[in-house]
Amino acid sequence: MNAQPEASHFIDGKYIEDRTGDVIEVIYPATGDVIARLHAATPAIVDQALAAAKRAQKEWAGWTATARGRVLRRAADIMRDRNHDLSVLETYDTGKPYQETSVVDATSGADALEYFGGLAASITGEHIPLGDDFVYTRREPLGVCIGIGAWNYPTQIACWKAAPALACGNAMVFKPSETTPLCALKVAEILVEAGAPAGVCNVIQGYGAVGASLITDPRVDKVSLTGSVPTGRKVYAAAAEGVRHVTMELGGKSPLVIFDDADLENAVSGAILGNFYSSGQVCSNGTRVFVQKGIKDAFLKRLTERLEGVKMGDPQDPDTNFGPMVSENQRDIVEGFFTKGVEEGATLVTGGKRVDRDGFYLEPTVFADVTDDMTIARDEIFGPVMSVLDFDTEEEVLARANDTEFGLAAGVFTADLTRAHRMAAGFEAGTCYINTYNDAPVEAPFGGSKMSGVGRENSKAAIEHYSQIKGVYVRMGDLEAPF
Ligand code: NAD
Repeated sequence: MNAQPEASHFIDGKYIEDRTGDVIEVIYPATGDVIARLHAATPAIVDQALAAAKRAQKEWAGWTATARGRVLRRAADIMRDRNHDLSVLETYDTGKPYQETSVVDATSGADALEYFGGLAASITGEHIPLGDDFVYTRREPLGVCIGIGAWNYPTQIACWKAAPALACGNAMVFKPSETTPLCALKVAEILVEAGAPAGVCNVIQGYGAVGASLITDPRVDKVSLTGSVPTGRKVYAAAAEGVRHVTMELGGKSPLVIFDDADLENAVSGAILGNFYSSGQVCSNGTRVFVQKGIKDAFLKRLTERLEGVKMGDPQDPDTNFGPMVSENQRDIVEGFFTKGVEEGATLVTGGKRVDRDGFYLEPTVFADVTDDMTIARDEIFGPVMSVLDFDTEEEVLARANDTEFGLAAGVFTADLTRAHRMAAGFEAGTCYINTYNDAPVEAPFGGSKMSGVGRENSKAAIEHYSQIKGVYVRMGDLEAPF
C-alpha cells in the first residue's frame, strides 16, 4: 500500500498542498521506515481552512437535520465498506495490529457517524408555557469547531469529534497528531463523498503550534482536544481567553480493583485488556491494578500464563496481537519507567525489556508489590506497563484508588452485587466498569473528571457540548412599562 496521501491537507472538499510548511515524516512503527512525507499547515493554510469552515457552516446549519443525518449515515456505510483498506492504513499510521484496527478503529468511527446521524433530527428545543405567554428554545450549533487529536486512535478520535459536531450543524477543522496524520484525511474525504458540502469538515496537519494558532482565531467557537494533561492546560487556557467552549479528553492513571470473590479468569482478561490492548497506549487504561491479598498469587500466576499468548510481529499479519510503540520517543519514555519501577523497589514479574527486532517494540511488563508512592503508580505511562498493588479492605482500596489527580476511568471485579455498585458510586472517575474494562460503545458517555478532562464524548451527552440553547420569550398581550 502507498501510504503517501494526495496532499497534506483536505480543505473545502479537496486535497491541498503547501510545501513551504515544516516537513512531517510519517514513520511505520514496526520498521522505523519513513512511509510518507507531509507538510505542516502554514498560516495561509490555517486561514484557508477556517474561511472554508466559516462559510460552509452557514449553509450546513440551514439544511434540515434529517438531511444532515443522512450524510453522516452514508459516510458510516462508506467507512464500513472500506474497513479493510482503512484498517491497513491505520496500522501503518499507528503500528497497532490489524487484528485490532480491523475491528475497532474505522468501525467505531462508523458507529459514531451512524449514531449521531440517527440522532440529528431529534436535536430539538422545547416549549415552555407561561400563562398566555410562552418561551421556546432553539438548540443551535456553536459554529466552527476545532478538533485536535492524539496519536493512539486517529480515525476514532476524528469521528468522535466530527460526528456530533456535524450532526448539530457545526463545521469542523481537525488537526490530527503529527505522529499519525494519515487517517483523519480519509474521514474528511468520505464525508464529502457522502454528500457533506465542501468546507464542512476540513483536516489540516501540524505540530502543536498549528493547534495553538487555531484556538485563538476569532472565527473559532469551540475546541475539542484529545491529548495529555499538560497540553490540555495550555489549550484550555488559550480557549478561555476568547471564552470558547471546550471539551478536554485528557490523560489518566485509572484504578482497576479486583476483589477476592471475583471470577479470576474474567479479572485477568480485564487486566489484560486494560493494560496491553494497543500495546498499552489507551488513555482509560486501568494501570493501577489493586488485587485483594487473598487472590494475589493466583492472579499473578494466571496473568503470567495468559501473557504467553502474546504474539508480537508484523502488525499487518492478522495473527499478530501485540504491536510496537507508536514512535521511538514513546518507546524511550516507557523504557524509562521500566528502570524507575526496578529502582524504586517494585518486583518485576515479567517483561521490562526492549525487543530485539526492528521497530519500537517493548515487552508487555508486569510489576508486583507496587506501592502508592512509586512513580509507576502515579504517572501516566502510556505503554504496556501494569502495576499490581495489594489491598485488604474495600474502604482502604476506594480511598487509594481515588488518591490521584486523574479521574478518567475506574473498574471493579467482584461477585458482590451491592459492593460493585458502591464502588462505582465511590470512584472519582467519569467512566466506570463493573466486571469488564475499557468497553467504549458510542451509546455510552465517555470522558473524565478531575484533571482528566471536561465534557463528554459519545451518547446524547455529546450533543450538549456541540450545541447551545437559545431561549425566545413570546408575549401574546400588551406590554406595560413604568413610564
Ligand atoms: P499531546 O498532548 O502531546 O498532543 C495532543 C495533540 O495536541 C496533538 O495533536 C498535538 O500536536 C497538539 N498540541 C500540542 N501542543 C499544543 C498546543 N499548545 N496547542 C494546541 N495543540 C497542541 O498528546 P499525545 O502524546 O498525542 O497523546 C497521548 C495523550 O493523550 C495521553 O496523555 C493520553 O492519555 C491522552 N488521550 C486521552 C484520551 C481521552 O479520550 N481522554 C484519548 C486518547 C489519548
